[in-house]
Amino acid sequence: MTLTVSAYGASDPTKPLHPLTIERRDLDPHDVLIEVKYAGICHSDIHTVRGEWGRQPWPVAPGHEIAGIVTEVGPEVTKFKVGDRVGVGCMVDSCGECAQCLDGEQQNCEKGVVFTYASTDKHGQTTHGGYSTHIVVTEGFVLRIPDGLELDVAAPLLCAGITTYSPLANWGAGPGKQVAVVGLGGLGHMAVKIAAAMGAEVTVLSQSLKKQEDGLRLGATSYFATSDPTTFRSQRRRFDLIINTISATMDLDAYLGLLAPRGAMVCVGMPPEPMSLHIGSVIGGGKALAGSNIGGIPQTQEMLVFCAEHGLGADIEVISADQINEAYERVLASDVRYRFVIDTATLPALN
Ligand code: NAP
Ligand code: ZN
Repeated sequence: MTLTVSAYGASDPTKPLHPLTIERRDLDPHDVLIEVKYAGICHSDIHTVRGEWGRQPWPVAPGHEIAGIVTEVGPEVTKFKVGDRVGVGCMVDSCGECAQCLDGEQQNCEKGVVFTYASTDKHGQTTHGGYSTHIVVTEGFVLRIPDGLELDVAAPLLCAGITTYSPLANWGAGPGKQVAVVGLGGLGHMAVKIAAAMGAEVTVLSQSLKKQEDGLRLGATSYFATSDPTTFRSQRRRFDLIINTISATMDLDAYLGLLAPRGAMVCVGMPPEPMSLHIGSVIGGGKALAGSNIGGIPQTQEMLVFCAEHGLGADIEVISADQINEAYERVLASDVRYRFVIDTATLPALN
C-alpha cells in the first residue's frame, strides 16, 4: 500500500514543469508522514530538472526546502508526534554507520547520501521532493521547526539557511570579522542575515546596485557592484571570509584578490561548467579556497534554533503551483526577492 499524492515536476529537461501524481511509500517503523505546507524554490532545483548537473531519473518532483506538519508516525518513531511542526532539507537518508554519518556530517556519507529528490532510496525507489502535498521521511532526517518561526519563512532555511550557516559557523564569522557575501539571491540573502546576527561586519558584492537598499536592510553595512571594476581595487585585501553563492562561472582570481592574507573564500554556488584559476591567487597571502555542502543534521537543527532566537526567517514571495515555471525564469534573471515559496495547498486536487 502506498499513498498517491499530487505533485509538480519535470518529465523532460527542456519542457516546463507540470502537475504529476507520485507515490509515497507506506510508513516503515521509523518513518514520519508529513503534510507539506510550503516548499521553497532553490536554484539547485533548476540546475537539476534542466539536466545541468547530468542525467536525472525524470520525472522528478523537486523541492528540498520543506516545511509542514506531521500527520502520522511509524510504530517505532520516538522523536516526533502527530501535529509537530517539522522541516526536511536536501537529504532524506544515509548509511548511518560511516565516520561521516557518526560525526553528524550525513551530507558526506561514505556510502552516498540519499537526496530528497532524484536519488534512489533504500527501497530502490526514486525520491521526490517537496513540490507535493505529502512526503515520507525517516525520523533521523526530520528537523523540528521552533515555535517562533512561521512555516512559510522557515521552509527556505532547510537549504538556503543551512548552506550559508554552515560555512559561516565553520569558518568563524563573528565580531571583528569582515565577511563578504557574493550574489544576493536565495542563499546570499540568508548569508547576510546570519553573518550579521553572528556579529560580523557584512558587505554584499552584487552584479549591480539595484538591491543595495535591501542588502543594507538585511544587515550588511556596505554594498558594492561587481560590474564596477573599481570595486576590485577599492575592496582589495579587505575580507576575512567570502561566501560565494554565484550560480554561474566567475573570475575566481579577481574575487580571491579581495581576501585579506590568510582569508578564505568558501564556494557554495555550483555552476555546471568548470572554472580555472591562477594558483598564485591563493599562494600569495596564504589564502584558502574551499567548498561547502549544505550541512549535517545536527548543525541544521542548531541553525533553526539560531534563526528562531534571532528572529531570522527568509524574505519570501509565496506563489501557487501554477506559477512555478514563471518563478524559475525570474530566478534565472536574478529577479528574486529573495526566495519563492510554493503554497502546496494550490497543487491540483487528485481525482
Ligand atoms: P539564486 O537565488 O539564483 O542566487 C544566485 C545569485 O547569484 C543571483 O541572485 C545573482 O546575485 C548571482 N548571479 C547569478 N548569475 C550570475 C552571473 N552570471 N554572474 C554573477 N553573479 C550571478 O540561487 P540560490 O538558490 O541562492 O543558489 C545559488 C547557487 O548555490 C546555485 O548554484 C545552487 O545550485 C547552489 N547551491 C549549493 C548548495 C550547496 O550545498 N553548496 C546548496 C544550495 C544551493 P546578484 O543579482 O546579487 O548579482
Ligand atoms: Zn537548495
